[in-house]
Amino acid sequence: MRFYVPSDIYVEKNCVANHKKDIIAMGSRAFIVTGRHSARINGSLEDVTSALTDGDIPYEIFDEVEENPSVETIVRAARIGKEFQADYVIGIGGGSPIDAAKAIALLIANPEEDGSCLYEARKLDYLPIIAIPTTCGTGSEATPVSVLTNHAKKIKKSIPYKIFPALSLVDGKYLASAKKSLIVNTAVDALAHMVESYLNSKSNLYNRLFPEYGLRLWAENKEALLSEDPLNESQYELLMLVSTIAGMAIAHTGTGLPHGMSYDLTYHYHVPHGPACGYFLGAYMEVCSRHCPDDVRKILDLLEMKDLDEFSAYIRSLIGTFEIDEKTKESFVSAMEHNESKLSAAPCTVTPEDVRFIYDKSLISKPLE
Ligand code: NAP
Ligand code: ZN
Repeated sequence: MRFYVPSDIYVEKNCVANHKKDIIAMGSRAFIVTGRHSARINGSLEDVTSALTDGDIPYEIFDEVEENPSVETIVRAARIGKEFQADYVIGIGGGSPIDAAKAIALLIANPEEDGSCLYEARKLDYLPIIAIPTTCGTGSEATPVSVLTNHAKKIKKSIPYKIFPALSLVDGKYLASAKKSLIVNTAVDALAHMVESYLNSKSNLYNRLFPEYGLRLWAENKEALLSEDPLNESQYELLMLVSTIAGMAIAHTGTGLPHGMSYDLTYHYHVPHGPACGYFLGAYMEVCSRHCPDDVRKILDLLEMKDLDEFSAYIRSLIGTFEIDEKTKESFVSAMEHNESKLSAAPCTVTPEDVRFIYDKSLISKPLE
């Protein structure tokens, strides 16, 4: 058994200000990577720039990371970061800017390489990264994963490098400006991470500690996520904490079939990442329950749910359903039947019939237009 999350992670109120010295000590020229708007609105960008200004650290801001960041954006940002001679990278935002920061840190540290190295399994260094999450889903601040969209290949996929942030500063206050739908969507992603990490061939005693604790905490916000009412400060803090814990869980095991299945929905239909995974969770658990019923029962108990029907009904009321035509679904089924890396992440043999069952049960069929 192995335990390995080599990131220094702090989860606390006013985390960035509290750890100003660590931010300043990380290097001498900082490259900030973020999305177009949200980091300015929720205060995270200002928290970081004022820490850097206090430490006389020159910085450059790249604020053009799109949702589901593309290889093209990474290459463009890395060029600017290299010209600036950055020696560390700060990713601020949801999973997209943080994942982008990881890939950018790799390219800046290897100036002779171009974007093609991103999908090659090589041993390459990367600059130190500071991660500051502002959504409560991906846990990228605690994982070595960077998921990129490759338009040339028409796919969304993790790059084969393990890039842990050196420092992660996690503060629930940045969620206060987020729409409820963003919080719900990203909380479902965190839920998927815990379920897929628990029901995973790499799951062991150590990494199960994370979902066992995190699922119980997630359940505390079950009703609040469903209701129309805004959340409060302590709920933001809890959701952020759970997201980081869920990241620690997948840092050990990786994700499973629901994540593998989600990427097509996001790439082809722009479904946000959390719901795209969430649609498949109930049916995935049902398949696993035929082989490891005790593990599925344990998850339901931690979530305080009676059975899988209750779980699926709850997820439906949270994120709704997704319709797809039969022909497209068929193409997704055939590709997934050969996705050895995701199939082998399941704790049991998943047959082609199981794959079809998950798609059929999770997505609503619509007639061809
Ligand atoms: P995201 O794509 O980073 O952001 C979604 C939207 O939320 C953006 O429009 C962003 O605006 C906005 N936003 C971010 N924080 C906000 C806040 N506090 N208030 C208001 N709006 C805010 O969403 P995400 O779900 O966090 O990340 C999804 C990506 O992470 C996907 O590519 C997914 O595959 C990946 N992922 C990575 C891991 C991992 O381990 N590394 C795990 C799971 C998923 P701006 O653009 O203006 O910032
Ligand atoms: Zn995810």
